Amino acid sequence: MKALAATLVSLSLTAPGMAQEGQPLKVTRNGSQPAAKGPAENFTGAVRVDSRFSAEEPARLSGGHVTFEPGARTAWHTHPLGQTLLVTSGVGRVQRWGGPVQEIRPGDVVWIPPGEKHWHGASPGNAMGHYAITEQLGGKSVDWLEKVSDEQYAR
Ligand code: MN
Repeated sequence: MKALAATLVSLSLTAPGMAQEGQPLKVTRNGSQPAAKGPAENFTGAVRVDSRFSAEEPARLSGGHVTFEPGARTAWHTHPLGQTLLVTSGVGRVQRWGGPVQEIRPGDVVWIPPGEKHWHGASPGNAMGHYAITEQLGGKSVDWLEKVSDEQYAR
């Protein structure tokens, strides 16, 4: 009990220090990091990731802007702490396992609950761009599963 009390006191004393005064804010300049290709084992079709970011601890935020060419999509996957998608361009699709394929458009905000098996991507005739924002758990933000078949995609 005494140890717990000591811990609580030290936490309350160190908490203000987490503001880390004097630490400069960071601007990652456009063009300073190469666009990443969505790897073929986790994506179908042409997928590009720009403006990737990963906040520094204790923050858990990470993400980037993802562009899917027509017909391109993620594989099925889950996020340990969920995911928010902010659609910026084109016409896209999102589906949770067992649910209907839903069309998504610029300005739409999609919340994927933690552990929910799902995919997202472009529509067959239009490209789609979205910001994907996740929180990492133990340094991990996604667990990849099998590809989305053409039959599943066409539904
Ligand atoms: Mn996702």
